[in-house]
Amino acid sequence: MKKNRYLILIFLFLWGNSLFATNSAILKDIRYFSYKDYTRVVLDLSKPIRYKEKELKEKDRVRFFLDLKNTVLSKKLKGKKRIVFNRNYIREIRIGQFKKDIARVVLEFKEVKEKKHFALKQPFRIVIDIFGTRGEKNGIKTTIKNSNKPNKKKIGKISNTKPVKTGTAKLDGDKKFSMARQLALTVKTIVLDPGHGGKDPGTIGKYYKTKEKTVVLDIAKRVEYYITRYTKIKVYMTRRTDVFIPLEERTAFANSKHADLFISIHANSAKNRKAYGLETFWLNFTTDAHSISVAAKENASSSRSIWELKGLLKKITLTSKLIESRIFAQKVQYSTLYYLRRYYRYPDYKVRKAPFYVLIGASMPAILVETGFLSNRTNERLLRMSSFRNRIAYGIFLGVKKYIKSLNGK
Ligand SMILES: [Zn+2]
Repeated sequence: MKKNRYLILIFLFLWGNSLFATNSAILKDIRYFSYKDYTRVVLDLSKPIRYKEKELKEKDRVRFFLDLKNTVLSKKLKGKKRIVFNRNYIREIRIGQFKKDIARVVLEFKEVKEKKHFALKQPFRIVIDIFGTRGEKNGIKTTIKNSNKPNKKKIGKISNTKPVKTGTAKLDGDKKFSMARQLALTVKTIVLDPGHGGKDPGTIGKYYKTKEKTVVLDIAKRVEYYITRYTKIKVYMTRRTDVFIPLEERTAFANSKHADLFISIHANSAKNRKAYGLETFWLNFTTDAHSISVAAKENASSSRSIWELKGLLKKITLTSKLIESRIFAQKVQYSTLYYLRRYYRYPDYKVRKAPFYVLIGASMPAILVETGFLSNRTNERLLRMSSFRNRIAYGIFLGVKKYIKSLNGK
């Protein structure tokens, strides 16, 4: 009898322990995309957690702590204590189990121009963006003050990255916005982002099984052709082949290239099979059911988690180029439609706002073009035609040109 009681106690003890273990989140992995003056770090967690941040400044270093509550390190990370970068704006990252239930990630740097972090869901991950000083050389900070002939572009860049006072940035009358316009920023670099790829086919056509990833890659290559053929703008593509690229990496790539514009190209699907036409999105929170469902699909998350982005967006949109993105979206939408309508009856599905992961954290005007609905028979047929894809690409190119013209006050 007594023996049994002991066994029960041991059993309860083990059971309790295993319960504790399954209750904590696991910091599964740390991914990073690091470039000369910009690094994006992504912490992958097994489930949503709360975390605390702290910054410690010392003579020759600054340390930024993230304490992940109720989190344990994965086996993979237990052996990996440091990731060394040796750059002024990011020297190294250290990972450790600070307390039994708190995992700690420390970023150490000498000086940093800007850093921001936010959490994304499904799967839960924390994204940290760190911007160094552009043109950093041998640890000497190059500032605009030292330059006798300040170039317009540089001033624009610097003013754009000034910390924004919370709660002061508004859509209308935004000072940063008019400043950028006054300085007539030129567009030198564009990043084109064909959606999906590899294991992620995107949406699949209802009638002919057309894959979104294939159609949008083809359109993006055609846009690239027109831009490089007719302008001196440098174009980078997030992918040129059928490969999978995480959403966070696409934005990171655009930031690292110091792109002046970012265009993510997609094809759509809707429950309503009659839905047909072009729509262009810019990043913002929305309550529109249709926009929420499009964002949920492109983010590979649920509509509910789109609602939960509200708080994050309030924070992040203070520093991103909202108005410019909206204007850019309008130019692309209406130039493309105007051009397409020479050939087809193509409905206007409007310029809309929605929280797309791929646009979050972009430091330039960024839009997402839904070129057509693969859930509609006629629209899918059109998207299968190379002549149509060519025209839609030419339309997007005209939109880019229109937007640049508008920057120059024309
Ligand atoms: Zn898509």
